[in-house]
Amino acid sequence: MRRRLPARLDPGTTIAAVRELHIRLGGTKILDGVTLDVTAGQVLALVGPNGAGKSTLLSALCGDLPIDSGQALLYQEPLAHWSAVEMAMRRAVMLQQATISFPFTVAQIVEMGRAPWSGTGRADADEQAIRTAMTLADVIPFSERVFSSLSGGERARVSLARALAQQSQLLLLDEPTAALDLHHQEDVLQLARRQAATGDAVVIVLHDLNLAAGYADQVAILSNGQLAACGPPAEVLTAELLSDVYQHKVEVWPHPATGEPVILPQRQGAGPRR
Ligand code: ADP
Ligand code: MG
Repeated sequence: MRRRLPARLDPGTTIAAVRELHIRLGGTKILDGVTLDVTAGQVLALVGPNGAGKSTLLSALCGDLPIDSGQALLYQEPLAHWSAVEMAMRRAVMLQQATISFPFTVAQIVEMGRAPWSGTGRADADEQAIRTAMTLADVIPFSERVFSSLSGGERARVSLARALAQQSQLLLLDEPTAALDLHHQEDVLQLARRQAATGDAVVIVLHDLNLAAGYADQVAILSNGQLAACGPPAEVLTAELLSDVYQHKVEVWPHPATGEPVILPQRQGAGPRR
């Protein structure tokens, strides 16, 4: 039996959550008791060192990983209860590595984001959804190119467009800005904010702590599979915590224009060149 799609949730309502989540992979403990709420109308940045468990947590929120103990919930129900199509109607994912083995064009790949709606009343909106997603992710200039011919940054924008075309209320993005230039990085975060303003929940894995500080409502810091902190950027992005989690001394200063935290790594051997 297929569940009815819920009405759009009010801002602040939990869309997805993990509770005391433990995941082991290859015999190793990867996530160790993580509890986190993903709420409608908010951008949640997931940060932390390489290997901290960010992608694993995102996969758990997608329902793509078996859980050892604890819960991963979508609309209050364990993800294991949802069928693939039901999940695809409710959450869209952009993975860290997009592998496309056939010579599909950009437009064809974005169109794949509409697959969950095939045969439903919402298929009528396919064309508009694809066009809007391609415009937002700025892929129109190369929409007829084959995916494999694109640069890393262009590929990332196509993967983002595909996720946007899906038009679900939960958007899970794994390092969407990693290969992007400065302009497109800011674009993606502005886009995340706009999606959140429509009532969507956006989870975005970031390495750039200043992007997290500038755009996220909440920042979750993962360290060694545990949640080191979660809260508004000004509360959790502190010099003490970041220096400890990243094992590198950082300074945090208020942004001269906005007052948001600006994170500066301490540099040894840097300074005026002779
Ligand atoms: P992040 O995205 O924060 O960089 P990941 O969630 O990808 O980290 O991975 C967390 C840790 O789990 C890493 O140390 C990674 O090597 C390890 N890991 C991921 N998948 C597996 C697996 N299938 N078997 C064993 N270890 C894994
Ligand atoms: Mg990762």
